[in-house]
Amino acid sequence: MQIVFFQRNFRRLFLCCLTCLLVGSLAACAGAPEPTVSSSQQPAASTHSTQPPSTVPTEASTVSTTQPPAPDRSAWNLRLVNPWNYLPEDFEITLTYLSNGQAVDERCYPDLQDMMDACRAAGLSPIICSSFRTQDDQEYLYNNKINRLIAQGYSEEEAPSEAAKVVAVPGTSEHQLGLALDIVDESYQLLNEEQEDTAVQKWLMEHSWEYGFILRYPSDKSEITGIIYEPWHYRYVGKEAAKEMKASGQCLEEYLGDVPTK
Ligand SMILES: [Zn+2]
Repeated sequence: MQIVFFQRNFRRLFLCCLTCLLVGSLAACAGAPEPTVSSSQQPAASTHSTQPPSTVPTEASTVSTTQPPAPDRSAWNLRLVNPWNYLPEDFEITLTYLSNGQAVDERCYPDLQDMMDACRAAGLSPIICSSFRTQDDQEYLYNNKINRLIAQGYSEEEAPSEAAKVVAVPGTSEHQLGLALDIVDESYQLLNEEQEDTAVQKWLMEHSWEYGFILRYPSDKSEITGIIYEPWHYRYVGKEAAKEMKASGQCLEEYLGDVPTK
């Protein structure tokens, strides 16, 4: 009698574990598109009871569906500025000036300095050619681009939208945040696609995330960012977000769940 009782309970326990394993696998697949999180943020590995339940569970709802927390869009390092998200008019930051006259938000300066030091320690010569811009700076650049396009044959109606693909409309430039930098190789200082072949860009594309920076406008994300491929423009988002975006391959809009609808 005792042997029969043991066999029944053992069979229940076996069925219970098998079901939990199957349900657990399905839940893991369903959660695949979520941003990668560090192991410390993962939900507890198991919520199963060690006691065999009176009936074998068949509902997926018995498994925890806890999701990793969404990125905090209001955080200073994750502020989204793009063609659809203007900088507030009362936006203010405290700047730190670099030795070459460039300036950045003081909060990203230590990590920027570390990144530049490491790049130079690798035997390379990075040059920061653009950083913080005021609204007036951005208006000058944008209007200048419009005028050059008109000189090339674009109409006055076409030129502004064409210019906006290359130079952000004033109020929508990340450079106004003080968190964006244009970095080039001393041996090749033109801002065009060939910049990606320089040793500095290869190093930055591989290592910038370690210092909290991302290549902001990758070649395959222009439809989402609204900006052409820029293999020289880096944006500070902080080390945690940069690591997660590097792992997932997401651009900032995707990471923040703010992809424009067509
Ligand atoms: Zn830039």
